[in-house]
Amino acid sequence: MASWTDLTLIQTPARIAALPKDQRGYPIPHSVLIQDGKPNFRVVDPEKAMHAIQEKLCGICGGKLGKYMAFVGGPRSIKSRCFTDLAMHSECASFALAVCPFLAMPKFSYLNVSDDKHHVNHLVSTNRPDTFGMGITTKYKVIELQGEMIIKAGSFTRVQFWKDGKPVGATRQREL
Ligand SMILES: [Zn+2]
Repeated sequence: MASWTDLTLIQTPARIAALPKDQRGYPIPHSVLIQDGKPNFRVVDPEKAMHAIQEKLCGICGGKLGKYMAFVGGPRSIKSRCFTDLAMHSECASFALAVCPFLAMPKFSYLNVSDDKHHVNHLVSTNRPDTFGMGITTKYKVIELQGEMIIKAGSFTRVQFWKDGKPVGATRQREL
């Protein structure tokens, strides 16, 4: 039986609470595409994404990132440090990880397929990994891989894995 989590029990960071909400009351991440006044949670607005990369903004709340930033992806992404989702504040990433089994909010992906104009993440409904990692780093760069724009994160100082909206196992600290 599927477990149910009361979303009101998940503490919402102020940065996310300040975001506009959709008709259901779900926060609309900064970087999603708005079409005809409605957010398309599966599609990243490429202009907003470029702007966020140039200005080092959080992909969820749109606020300025600090020294440390978080990347979220499946185990493959964590290993390769290649991401299609933008860097986030760690508290924004944790919130998204906590609510993601229940909301369409995050787009966390390790593969994506693009149509003519927009990147569509096909993992949201079908191939979604059941474990996600959150890696913390201080830098990233944008690279092109097979025609796709990929974000390559710097070395992780910390990795935390999440499953079913909860952190699992011990935080893996990089040996320095
Ligand atoms: Zn944020």
